[in-house]
Amino acid sequence: MKPVNLLILDDKEENIISLSALLSEVEHINIISSTDPNEALKICWKNDIAIALVDVQMPEINGFEFVSLLKSNPKTNHIMAIMVTAISKEDKYLLKGLESGAVDYLYKPLNPEITVAKVTSFVQQIHIQEEIKQKNVALEESQRQLILAKEEAEEASRSKESFLANMSHEIRTPINGIVGIIHILRNTQLSNEQRDWINRLDSASNSLLLIINDILDISKIDSGMMKIEYENFSIHQKLMDINNFFKIKALDKSLAFETDIDPQLPEYIKSSPIRIQQIINNFISNALKFTEEGKITLKASVVEQLNLHYTIKFTVTDTGIGIKPEAIDKIFLAFEQGDDSITKKYGGTGLGLAIVKKLADLLHGKIEAKSTYGKGSEFSFQATFEKVDDFRQEETRDTKTTSLLHKFDNVRILVAEDNELNSFMLLHILKSWGCKVDLAKNGKIALEYVNERDYDLIMMDTHMPVMSGFQAIQEIKTHPNLKKAYTPIITISASVLQHEQDAAYKAGADSVIGKPFDPIDLYHKIDKLISKRG
Ligand code: ADP
Repeated sequence: MKPVNLLILDDKEENIISLSALLSEVEHINIISSTDPNEALKICWKNDIAIALVDVQMPEINGFEFVSLLKSNPKTNHIMAIMVTAISKEDKYLLKGLESGAVDYLYKPLNPEITVAKVTSFVQQIHIQEEIKQKNVALEESQRQLILAKEEAEEASRSKESFLANMSHEIRTPINGIVGIIHILRNTQLSNEQRDWINRLDSASNSLLLIINDILDISKIDSGMMKIEYENFSIHQKLMDINNFFKIKALDKSLAFETDIDPQLPEYIKSSPIRIQQIINNFISNALKFTEEGKITLKASVVEQLNLHYTIKFTVTDTGIGIKPEAIDKIFLAFEQGDDSITKKYGGTGLGLAIVKKLADLLHGKIEAKSTYGKGSEFSFQATFEKVDDFRQEETRDTKTTSLLHKFDNVRILVAEDNELNSFMLLHILKSWGCKVDLAKNGKIALEYVNERDYDLIMMDTHMPVMSGFQAIQEIKTHPNLKKAYTPIITISASVLQHEQDAAYKAGADSVIGKPFDPIDLYHKIDKLISKRG
């Protein structure tokens, strides 16, 4: 423990000697003394004095004045002053001392026990204060570290977001090319064998896209960027779509697939059809993956109903390999699988159920898994939904090929895209719809084309060298020639981040299409924009 500096100020040397002798038994103090108040003040300024025992009656400056001087100086106002006096114990003297800033009194003749006890207690107080001071310093330091760590985390999250945006763009762009070319090839004359190859290519690129979407989904959820979009939809229709899709897949593996819908299930509910489908699809895909024979069942049952609020449980049961009891909890963690042999035998990223769990949380629902190792598993998602009535479904359009779509008449389109595979694919698709197409490798060349010719529509990639799509859109939309300025623009965005898509609209885009895009979607977007133009 650091010793506390204690000053004794008394004009009589013998008083100092006797007081020092008395205090010799107090631990952790270092006594400094003076008979001269002026010298004592200097000592207080220069040394780290914590306690001062001040004689009241002194020539020149009396004890009260001395303490007042200590208290009026910021360098010395922290010193605890104890008045030592021989004058009466009357209240007015006591008050005078306290008013000047003293904390206590000692009366002459000094009672040794009281003197030692008082000084010891003040020394302890100072030690406690010192400890508090040190803890405060440590607290401030840890607060500083916390702020620093928070700033670092924010910086990391920003770089994660930009990494996401870049990775999303870099990977989606070539996949977009692949998906597009598959689409073009599908519309050509093919032998059965070639058609089979195309189907395999299609399924490989879809798997790749699923993995990328999973990685992006988990990052989006973790960084709070996953938005749940609620809408009214037919839950029956959704379950039937899922049933139809997976029945065929199950048949490929010679597995039975059954869907069992509770008659109490409302026709229409308000929720996020995409996310519900994502959860159920994940369960069924896993069931298909881990089942070699037997049956897979999708069941939707109403667990509880309170007015318009229906608690619905979606359960997927399989007769597959099952999960060991010790693994059942960890399979919901990202990148975790049942056991190490699973990766070797079945592949997979271990992300599916982690995403499902987080999506269920976002939908205020819960996930449950039960399994008997070697016999089968049961995964369920349960949440409460609002029943809605009088809801008309939007008409759906569904064709795998675009060859049946009517051709555009005399439509000239400028495609600004730096990726060759993509521009090649777009050129072919647009030409197959009867459009005349010009290609530009960056925003600057696109601008030059716009200055030279009039277009009915412009398709603009967002990330391009030399001049970005955003900049080129801004330039076109503020073109002095109004006809050119009003040319409809569709941006082709490989980013799944909402703010990048918002930025495209902010820059002036009339529509945004993601990568990889569905050509039918693109067709309808072009059709809408061109017919609007008249
Ligand atoms: P992935 O299947 O891509 O590895 P998931 O998160 O979807 O990732 O699943 C994690 C693990 O949970 C799987 O690797 C598997 O061990 C186990 N699992 C999930 N569903 C089933 C199922 N229906 N039957 C047996 N094991 C399953």
